[in-house]
Amino acid sequence: MTRLWFVSHLRRRVPGMQTSTQETQATVTGLAAPRLLETLSPSRASDFKACPQLFKFRAIDRIEEPPNEYQARGTTAHLALQRLFDLPPSDRTPEHLFDLFRSSWIDVRDLEYPDLFTDVADERRWGIESLEILANYFGVEDPSAIEPADRELDMREVLGEMTIRGILDRIDRTGDGLVITDYKTGKAPPERYAIPAFFALKVYALLIRQSTGETPVRLRLLYLNGPVVYEIPVNDAQLDAMERQLTALWAVIESAIRTDRFPTRPSKLCDWCAYKSICPAWAQPDQEVAAFLMP
Ligand code: SF4
Repeated sequence: MTRLWFVSHLRRRVPGMQTSTQETQATVTGLAAPRLLETLSPSRASDFKACPQLFKFRAIDRIEEPPNEYQARGTTAHLALQRLFDLPPSDRTPEHLFDLFRSSWIDVRDLEYPDLFTDVADERRWGIESLEILANYFGVEDPSAIEPADRELDMREVLGEMTIRGILDRIDRTGDGLVITDYKTGKAPPERYAIPAFFALKVYALLIRQSTGETPVRLRLLYLNGPVVYEIPVNDAQLDAMERQLTALWAVIESAIRTDRFPTRPSKLCDWCAYKSICPAWAQPDQEVAAFLMP
Protein backbone atom coordinates (compact mmCIF):
# COMPACT_ATOMS: atom_id res chain seq x y z
CA MET A 1 0.00 0.00 0.00
CA THR A 2 1.22 3.48 -0.81
CA ARG A 3 1.86 5.13 2.51
CA LEU A 4 0.83 8.68 2.83
CA TRP A 5 3.26 11.51 2.94
CA PHE A 6 1.41 12.74 6.02
CA VAL A 7 3.32 14.31 8.86
CA SER A 8 3.42 12.79 12.30
CA HIS A 9 0.52 14.68 13.77
CA LEU A 10 -1.83 12.56 11.74
CA ARG A 11 -2.28 9.70 14.16
CA ARG A 12 -3.63 6.37 13.02
CA ARG A 13 -6.62 4.84 14.70
CA VAL A 14 -5.85 1.53 16.31
CA PRO A 15 -8.21 -0.96 14.68
CA GLY A 16 -11.11 -1.81 16.91
CA MET A 17 -9.85 0.22 19.81
CA GLN A 18 -11.58 3.48 19.07
CA THR A 19 -15.14 4.17 18.23
CA SER A 20 -17.02 6.52 16.02
CA THR A 21 -18.18 8.14 19.25
CA GLN A 22 -14.62 8.94 20.26
CA GLU A 23 -13.86 10.51 16.94
CA THR A 24 -16.56 13.09 17.34
CA GLN A 25 -15.66 14.69 20.63
CA ALA A 26 -15.72 18.37 21.14
CA THR A 27 -13.63 18.96 24.21
CA VAL A 28 -13.65 21.78 26.69
CA THR A 29 -10.90 22.74 29.06
CA GLY A 30 -11.30 21.21 32.49
CA LEU A 31 -9.54 23.75 34.70
CA ALA A 32 -10.05 27.34 33.72
CA ALA A 33 -13.36 29.13 33.94
CA PRO A 34 -15.11 29.74 31.66
CA ARG A 35 -14.56 26.34 30.08
CA LEU A 36 -13.91 26.99 26.40
CA LEU A 37 -13.53 24.73 23.40
CA GLU A 38 -10.26 22.86 22.91
CA THR A 39 -11.19 20.89 19.80
CA LEU A 40 -14.16 20.52 17.50
CA SER A 41 -15.09 17.65 15.21
CA PRO A 42 -17.45 17.73 12.22
CA SER A 43 -19.98 15.62 14.13
CA ARG A 44 -20.16 17.98 17.08
CA ALA A 45 -20.22 20.99 14.77
CA SER A 46 -23.21 19.42 12.99
CA ASP A 47 -24.86 18.81 16.36
CA PHE A 48 -24.58 22.46 17.30
CA LYS A 49 -25.95 23.57 13.95
CA ALA A 50 -28.91 21.18 14.29
CA CYS A 51 -29.63 21.89 17.97
CA PRO A 52 -27.34 23.67 20.47
CA GLN A 53 -28.96 21.77 23.37
CA LEU A 54 -28.09 18.47 21.68
CA PHE A 55 -24.47 19.67 21.45
CA LYS A 56 -24.56 20.50 25.17
CA PHE A 57 -25.84 17.06 26.14
CA ARG A 58 -23.17 15.33 24.08
CA ALA A 59 -20.10 17.57 24.24
CA ILE A 60 -20.42 19.57 27.46
CA ASP A 61 -22.44 17.37 29.81
CA ARG A 62 -21.04 14.20 28.22
CA ILE A 63 -24.20 12.25 28.91
CA GLU A 64 -23.72 8.85 27.34
CA GLU A 65 -26.31 7.68 24.85
CA PRO A 66 -27.51 4.09 24.99
CA PRO A 67 -25.83 2.15 22.17
CA ASN A 68 -28.09 0.99 19.37
CA GLU A 69 -27.81 -1.55 16.60
CA TYR A 70 -27.32 1.08 13.88
CA GLN A 71 -24.22 2.43 15.63
CA ALA A 72 -22.98 -1.13 16.16
CA ARG A 73 -23.44 -1.88 12.46
CA GLY A 74 -21.59 1.29 11.47
CA THR A 75 -18.67 0.66 13.82
CA THR A 76 -18.32 -2.97 12.74
CA ALA A 77 -18.73 -2.33 9.00
CA HIS A 78 -16.12 0.45 9.09
CA LEU A 79 -13.67 -1.84 10.82
CA ALA A 80 -14.33 -4.68 8.36
CA LEU A 81 -13.87 -2.38 5.35
CA GLN A 82 -10.70 -1.00 6.85
CA ARG A 83 -9.31 -4.51 7.34
CA LEU A 84 -10.37 -5.60 3.85
CA PHE A 85 -7.58 -3.45 2.42
CA ASP A 86 -5.01 -5.22 4.59
CA LEU A 87 -5.61 -8.26 2.38
CA PRO A 88 -3.94 -8.79 -1.00
CA PRO A 89 -6.19 -7.50 -3.84
CA SER A 90 -7.17 -10.99 -4.99
CA ASP A 91 -8.48 -11.82 -1.49
CA ARG A 92 -10.81 -8.82 -1.26
CA THR A 93 -13.90 -10.90 -1.92
CA PRO A 94 -17.42 -10.81 -0.42
CA GLU A 95 -16.68 -13.96 1.59
CA HIS A 96 -13.59 -12.40 3.17
CA LEU A 97 -15.46 -9.17 3.88
CA PHE A 98 -18.21 -11.16 5.62
CA ASP A 99 -15.58 -13.01 7.67
CA LEU A 100 -13.99 -9.69 8.59
CA PHE A 101 -17.38 -8.34 9.66
CA ARG A 102 -17.91 -11.35 11.94
CA SER A 103 -14.43 -11.12 13.48
CA SER A 104 -14.70 -7.33 13.83
CA TRP A 105 -18.02 -7.74 15.64
CA ILE A 106 -16.41 -10.13 18.11
CA ASP A 107 -13.66 -7.54 18.65
CA VAL A 108 -16.02 -4.65 19.35
CA ARG A 109 -18.98 -6.45 20.94
CA ASP A 110 -17.59 -7.04 24.40
CA LEU A 111 -15.78 -3.73 24.45
CA GLU A 112 -18.49 -1.39 23.21
CA TYR A 113 -21.81 -3.23 22.95
CA PRO A 114 -21.87 -5.88 25.68
CA ASP A 115 -25.61 -5.56 26.40
CA LEU A 116 -26.93 -4.63 22.98
CA PHE A 117 -28.64 -7.94 22.20
CA THR A 118 -30.64 -9.82 24.76
CA ASP A 119 -30.82 -13.07 22.82
CA VAL A 120 -28.87 -14.91 20.17
CA ALA A 121 -31.74 -14.86 17.65
CA ASP A 122 -31.86 -11.07 17.77
CA GLU A 123 -28.10 -10.80 17.31
CA ARG A 124 -28.30 -13.26 14.42
CA ARG A 125 -31.09 -11.26 12.75
CA TRP A 126 -28.96 -8.11 13.05
CA GLY A 127 -25.92 -9.94 11.67
CA ILE A 128 -27.78 -11.21 8.60
CA GLU A 129 -29.20 -7.76 7.87
CA SER A 130 -25.73 -6.27 8.27
CA LEU A 131 -24.16 -8.76 5.85
CA GLU A 132 -26.89 -8.05 3.28
CA ILE A 133 -26.07 -4.35 3.48
CA LEU A 134 -22.33 -5.02 3.37
CA ALA A 135 -22.72 -7.19 0.26
CA ASN A 136 -23.87 -4.06 -1.59
CA TYR A 137 -20.34 -2.72 -1.33
CA PHE A 138 -19.26 -4.84 -4.28
CA GLY A 139 -21.99 -3.28 -6.42
CA VAL A 140 -20.39 0.16 -6.22
CA GLU A 141 -16.66 -0.59 -6.03
CA ASP A 142 -14.16 -3.25 -6.94
CA PRO A 143 -11.77 -3.28 -3.97
CA SER A 144 -9.24 -5.41 -5.86
CA ALA A 145 -8.66 -2.41 -8.15
CA ILE A 146 -8.10 0.08 -5.31
CA GLU A 147 -4.97 0.77 -3.29
CA PRO A 148 -5.96 3.35 -0.69
CA ALA A 149 -3.31 5.94 0.06
CA ASP A 150 -4.46 5.72 3.66
CA ARG A 151 -7.37 4.69 5.89
CA GLU A 152 -8.84 5.63 9.24
CA LEU A 153 -6.72 8.70 9.66
CA ASP A 154 -7.14 10.43 13.00
CA MET A 155 -6.46 14.06 12.19
CA ARG A 156 -6.01 17.05 14.44
CA GLU A 157 -5.06 20.38 12.93
CA VAL A 158 -4.73 23.93 14.20
CA LEU A 159 -6.53 26.44 11.98
CA GLY A 160 -6.10 29.96 13.31
CA GLU A 161 -7.63 29.94 16.81
CA MET A 162 -9.26 26.56 16.30
CA THR A 163 -8.19 22.96 16.63
CA ILE A 164 -10.26 20.73 14.40
CA ARG A 165 -10.38 16.94 14.71
CA GLY A 166 -11.72 14.24 12.50
CA ILE A 167 -11.25 10.63 11.46
CA LEU A 168 -11.26 10.10 7.73
CA ASP A 169 -12.35 6.68 6.41
CA ARG A 170 -10.23 6.45 3.27
CA ILE A 171 -8.16 8.57 0.93
CA ASP A 172 -7.10 7.46 -2.54
CA ARG A 173 -4.50 8.86 -4.89
CA THR A 174 -6.09 8.93 -8.34
CA GLY A 175 -4.87 10.29 -11.66
CA ASP A 176 -6.69 13.55 -10.90
CA GLY A 177 -5.44 13.93 -7.34
CA LEU A 178 -6.61 13.00 -3.85
CA VAL A 179 -10.12 11.61 -3.37
CA ILE A 180 -11.71 11.27 0.08
CA THR A 181 -14.30 8.54 0.67
CA ASP A 182 -16.67 8.22 3.62
CA TYR A 183 -18.60 4.97 4.21
CA LYS A 184 -22.20 5.20 5.35
CA THR A 185 -24.28 2.29 6.61
CA GLY A 186 -27.45 4.31 7.17
CA LYS A 187 -30.08 4.54 4.47
CA ALA A 188 -29.05 6.71 1.53
CA PRO A 189 -31.01 9.96 1.23
CA PRO A 190 -32.33 11.08 -2.17
CA GLU A 191 -29.58 12.92 -4.05
CA ARG A 192 -31.16 16.36 -3.54
CA TYR A 193 -30.87 15.91 0.24
CA ALA A 194 -27.32 14.53 0.22
CA ILE A 195 -25.42 17.83 0.10
CA PRO A 196 -25.48 18.49 3.90
CA ALA A 197 -23.84 15.10 4.41
CA PHE A 198 -20.73 16.42 2.62
CA PHE A 199 -20.11 18.85 5.49
CA ALA A 200 -17.79 16.44 7.33
CA LEU A 201 -15.97 15.52 4.14
CA LYS A 202 -15.25 19.16 3.38
CA VAL A 203 -13.81 19.50 6.88
CA TYR A 204 -11.62 16.44 6.27
CA ALA A 205 -10.48 17.95 2.96
CA LEU A 206 -9.60 21.15 4.82
CA LEU A 207 -7.54 19.16 7.33
CA ILE A 208 -5.75 17.32 4.53
CA ARG A 209 -4.93 20.60 2.80
CA GLN A 210 -3.69 22.03 6.07
CA SER A 211 -1.45 19.05 6.84
CA THR A 212 -0.10 18.30 3.38
CA GLY A 213 -0.50 21.49 1.37
CA GLU A 214 -2.41 19.51 -1.26
CA THR A 215 -6.09 20.19 -1.97
CA PRO A 216 -8.16 17.05 -2.55
CA VAL A 217 -10.09 17.04 -5.81
CA ARG A 218 -13.18 14.98 -4.98
CA LEU A 219 -15.34 13.90 -2.07
CA ARG A 220 -17.34 10.66 -2.11
CA LEU A 221 -20.15 9.45 0.11
CA LEU A 222 -20.47 5.69 -0.29
CA TYR A 223 -23.86 4.55 1.02
CA LEU A 224 -23.90 0.79 1.46
CA ASN A 225 -27.62 0.84 2.22
CA GLY A 226 -28.65 1.99 -1.24
CA PRO A 227 -26.23 1.26 -2.60
CA VAL A 228 -25.24 4.56 -4.12
CA VAL A 229 -22.19 6.79 -4.33
CA TYR A 230 -22.62 10.56 -4.25
CA GLU A 231 -19.61 12.49 -5.42
CA ILE A 232 -18.76 16.19 -5.66
CA PRO A 233 -15.64 18.08 -6.76
CA VAL A 234 -13.90 20.24 -4.20
CA ASN A 235 -11.55 23.19 -4.59
CA ASP A 236 -9.67 25.81 -2.59
CA ALA A 237 -12.49 28.36 -2.70
CA GLN A 238 -14.89 25.85 -1.12
CA LEU A 239 -12.37 24.94 1.55
CA ASP A 240 -11.68 28.61 2.29
CA ALA A 241 -15.44 29.06 2.76
CA MET A 242 -15.55 26.03 5.04
CA GLU A 243 -12.74 27.45 7.16
CA ARG A 244 -14.66 30.74 7.51
CA GLN A 245 -17.81 28.82 8.43
CA LEU A 246 -15.95 26.82 11.09
CA THR A 247 -14.34 29.98 12.47
CA ALA A 248 -17.76 31.61 12.87
CA LEU A 249 -19.23 28.46 14.39
CA TRP A 250 -16.31 28.14 16.83
CA ALA A 251 -16.97 31.71 18.04
CA VAL A 252 -20.70 31.04 18.47
CA ILE A 253 -20.05 27.84 20.42
CA GLU A 254 -17.55 29.58 22.69
CA SER A 255 -20.08 32.32 23.31
CA ALA A 256 -22.72 29.69 24.17
CA ILE A 257 -20.29 28.08 26.62
CA ARG A 258 -19.41 31.42 28.24
CA THR A 259 -23.05 32.38 28.71
CA ASP A 260 -24.31 28.83 29.27
CA ARG A 261 -27.00 29.39 26.67
CA PHE A 262 -27.79 26.38 24.51
CA PRO A 263 -31.23 26.88 22.95
CA THR A 264 -33.32 23.86 22.05
CA ARG A 265 -34.33 23.52 18.43
CA PRO A 266 -37.19 21.02 18.20
CA SER A 267 -37.47 19.28 14.84
CA LYS A 268 -37.99 15.84 13.32
CA LEU A 269 -34.58 15.01 14.82
CA CYS A 270 -36.22 14.90 18.27
CA ASP A 271 -37.91 11.60 17.37
CA TRP A 272 -34.47 9.96 17.24
CA CYS A 273 -32.82 12.02 19.96
CA ALA A 274 -31.64 9.94 22.92
CA TYR A 275 -32.02 12.96 25.21
CA LYS A 276 -35.68 13.70 24.48
CA SER A 277 -36.81 12.53 27.93
CA ILE A 278 -34.55 15.06 29.65
CA CYS A 279 -34.73 17.83 27.07
CA PRO A 280 -36.21 21.12 28.29
CA ALA A 281 -38.13 21.45 25.02
CA TRP A 282 -40.09 18.30 25.87
CA ALA A 283 -40.37 18.73 29.63
CA GLN A 284 -43.78 17.83 30.99
CA PRO A 285 -45.46 20.51 33.11
CA ASP A 286 -45.78 19.38 36.71
CA GLN A 287 -49.13 18.02 37.84
CA GLU A 288 -50.26 21.22 39.45
CA VAL A 289 -49.57 23.31 36.38
CA ALA A 290 -50.98 20.61 34.06
CA ALA A 291 -54.26 20.58 36.01
CA PHE A 292 -54.46 24.34 35.77
CA LEU A 293 -53.95 24.18 32.00
CA MET A 294 -56.67 21.58 31.41
CA PRO A 295 -59.81 22.78 29.68
S1 SF4 B 1 -34.97 16.40 21.88
FE1 SF4 B 1 -34.88 17.79 20.12
S2 SF4 B 1 -34.70 19.87 21.00
FE2 SF4 B 1 -34.14 18.38 22.60
S3 SF4 B 1 -31.92 18.14 22.47
FE3 SF4 B 1 -32.81 16.53 21.24
S4 SF4 B 1 -32.86 17.41 19.17
FE4 SF4 B 1 -32.61 19.14 20.58
